Amino acid sequence: MGIAFSVRFWGVRGSIATAGREFAGVGGNTTCVEVRIGDEIVILDAGTGVFPLGQTLDRPLRATFLFSHFHWDHIQGFPLFRPVYEPENAFTIYGYGDRGADVEAVFAGQMQVPHFPVGLGALRAHLEFRALHAGSEIDIGPARVRAAALNHPQGCLGYRISVDDRSVVFATDTEPCEPGAVDPAVVEFARGADLLIHDAQYTEHEYDGCSGYGRRGWGHSTYDVACRTARAAGVRQLVLFHHDPAHDDRFIERMLSAARAQFLNVVVAREGVTLHVRGAATAYPEPAASSAPAESGGRYAA
Ligand SMILES: [Zn+2]
Ligand SMILES: [Zn+2]
Repeated sequence: MGIAFSVRFWGVRGSIATAGREFAGVGGNTTCVEVRIGDEIVILDAGTGVFPLGQTLDRPLRATFLFSHFHWDHIQGFPLFRPVYEPENAFTIYGYGDRGADVEAVFAGQMQVPHFPVGLGALRAHLEFRALHAGSEIDIGPARVRAAALNHPQGCLGYRISVDDRSVVFATDTEPCEPGAVDPAVVEFARGADLLIHDAQYTEHEYDGCSGYGRRGWGHSTYDVACRTARAAGVRQLVLFHHDPAHDDRFIERMLSAARAQFLNVVVAREGVTLHVRGAATAYPEPAASSAPAESGGRYAA
């Protein structure tokens, strides 16, 4: 059996949140993924998806944030994550930098006048900011976490979370250094993982500028790159992640069909879905045929 190890998707969108029925099957919130390892709660990024997550967590709460980087779509939910206002809660917050003070300064800056009505001091939970860099290794309860550099403007960290012989790799916001090639460093980092959650924001056409403007140098991958990375790394299952805000459910389904021709065990990240990491038995639950948002199950309190 081993320790319970699961991943739940609260925000799967990149760049900006979307609303509307045509996006509801996949979900409109920006990046936030909850990882449970036994009693440990690890939160990967705090895009708008962290708000509905905050509505479900019990108090007193102790959790660890691992931030990939500090672009808006990965941090904008943080000042609205209600558990950080409650003094009985405690959070350890990791992001890249040389010192914990560097990470703290990012969150203080986000809440500065005129961007937010209250400052960082209004957060009454115990907050401990810590810095990570590529190559860092930390333990969170029974999990070993490794960080690696991803190719993204201003830098980004990928995370590999390992529990006994199972592992999940979170590689959002990454672009191959050479157009048309996969990033060998990402392949190595993801080697043999049970689950690879990978940036798949664009189609090849969009990336190359065949339809509209090109997106090279914006720091994101195509689904094609995600599939080829998964194949080269020999991962068990690939989750296409960081969906473009212009892509509705039907568009993303078409991307998924095309991706399946390249890597059979590929799925699309959808809000509200929980995936249990059980080694060979790991399987992402397929949505009901209707893809109704109620089915995907995010619990939104009023
Ligand atoms: Zn992003
Ligand atoms: Zn980014």
